[in-house]
Amino acid sequence: MPRVAPELTAADRTATAIGVDLGEYNLYTACPATMPDWKGAYAICGDDLCTRLDELRAQVAHLLGSEHDRETITAYVEQRRTALLERLDDAARTICDYASAYDRPVLVTENSHFEPDLWAWLTDPNAHRGTAWLLPAAQFRLRAVAAAYAIEVTTVPVSYSSQECHACGVIGKRTQSPTFRCTNPGCFVGTVSADHNAAKVLAQRYYPGQRCAYQPPNSATTATDDRPAPLADGGSPQ
Ligand SMILES: [Zn+2]
Repeated sequence: MPRVAPELTAADRTATAIGVDLGEYNLYTACPATMPDWKGAYAICGDDLCTRLDELRAQVAHLLGSEHDRETITAYVEQRRTALLERLDDAARTICDYASAYDRPVLVTENSHFEPDLWAWLTDPNAHRGTAWLLPAAQFRLRAVAAAYAIEVTTVPVSYSSQECHACGVIGKRTQSPTFRCTNPGCFVGTVSADHNAAKVLAQRYYPGQRCAYQPPNSATTATDDRPAPLADGGSPQ
């Protein structure tokens, strides 16, 4: 008589893992593991928030060099931070609405450990906009909003998720930020949106046996640069 699978495993098997890649180009890119092409995947552009963060940085640099006292500047930054978080929450709600259309959705994100530090972005000349504030803040807000939707959020190892081909597991090329090209000549993927590919890789890693399928670098050396991209996944969505 066959044994009944453990409850957790059975639940995992029936869940719909939806990878959510976080970035500056696309703030959130959501894609289920089972998506046959990119038509049903969903991306929210990050341009607006990036522009606002750049503007705020310039404004704060100006204010710090002006007659305004520190308390006034801090209050202004807090006000702007609240507005930025409201926009992140709007975006996160859109992702949760999208995920709600699937059976037992589980949002799968990368296991990054950055803490959002807006002041670091505003005052440290070496700070990176994404890692200093935007991406960790987007991670926290997605968790908070998903909790309100009663949608589970889990993390998987992030290693190579932005470089690994979702279809064959070979490490491809990401020469231009928005696109990923699989360098495996036997793979149908060709060139696709890097964020969509990463979201799908994250979703796949939710399931057992689908951790990073990293191949040795020499597995990709037979590819040629002039290989036509079949665009089997529909090309590079905007
Ligand atoms: Zn491939």
